[in-house]
Amino acid sequence: MKRTLSLLLSVFLFGCAAPTPPCQPYELTAEPPQYYVVLDYGHGGSDCGAVGIETGVKESDLNLAIGERVAAALEDRGCFVLRTRTGADAIGKTKRDDMAKRGAILCAEGADCTVSIHMNKFADRSVKGPMCYYQAGAEEGQALAQCVIDALTEALGKSGRLANPGNNFVTRIPNAPSVLVECGFLSNAEDERNLQDADFQQLLADAIADGVLAFLKSQNESDFREKKSNSACASRRKLIQ
Ligand SMILES: [Zn+2]
Repeated sequence: MKRTLSLLLSVFLFGCAAPTPPCQPYELTAEPPQYYVVLDYGHGGSDCGAVGIETGVKESDLNLAIGERVAAALEDRGCFVLRTRTGADAIGKTKRDDMAKRGAILCAEGADCTVSIHMNKFADRSVKGPMCYYQAGAEEGQALAQCVIDALTEALGKSGRLANPGNNFVTRIPNAPSVLVECGFLSNAEDERNLQDADFQQLLADAIADGVLAFLKSQNESDFREKKSNSACASRRKLIQ
C-alpha cells in the first residue's frame, strides 16, 4: 500500500515535469501524421434518430455507413481512429447507459479531435445540405467545424457556409476540439436520395476527412505537442485526486 502511494505521489509530483513519457501517450512523427481522431456515429439500436420522409431510411444506419467511410478515409490519411460503435446496435442498454459509454469514448485521453456524424431534419422540407456545429465559445472547436464545413461545401460546389455554435452532448463533453457534422436533411427529398448513394457518401466522407486533416495540420506542431502533453497531465491529475 505504501509503495502504491509513493508511486502515485511520484507520478503526481514529477510525472508532468518529466520531458519524456508517461505524460505523452505516443510520439508524433512528421510522416505520416499520426493523429488520433475519435469518431462517433450517432444513435443506434432502437434509437434510430431521424427517419427519411420518402423512403423511411434510418438516420442511425446512414450515420454508420457514412461514418465508416470517414473512418477509412482518415485511416488512409494516416490517422488512428477510435469509433464509438461499429455495428447497428446502440452501445448501452438504455439511452442513459449509451450516452455514458459514448461520453467516455469521446473523452479518450490523447485524442486530437472528435467528430460526431448525424443526419438532420427540419419542418421546412426545402432546407438541405450539410451543417457543422461546435460547442458555443470553444475556439478550437469552431476552427475545426469551419474547416469541415468549408471542405464539405467545396466538395458539393456550394458557396461558403459558416459553422454553427450549439450546445450538444457530443461537443460539450470531449476535452479535445469537437465537431458535430449533420451530413444533410432527411426531411428534404433530394438530400434523402443523395445520402443513400454510395458515391455521394464517399464524396462527403472524403470531404470530412480532408477538413479534419486541414484543421489538425493548421495547429502549430510545437503548441500541439505541448497541449497534448498538458491535457494528458491534467487527466492524470484528475484520476489521481
Ligand atoms: Zn442525430
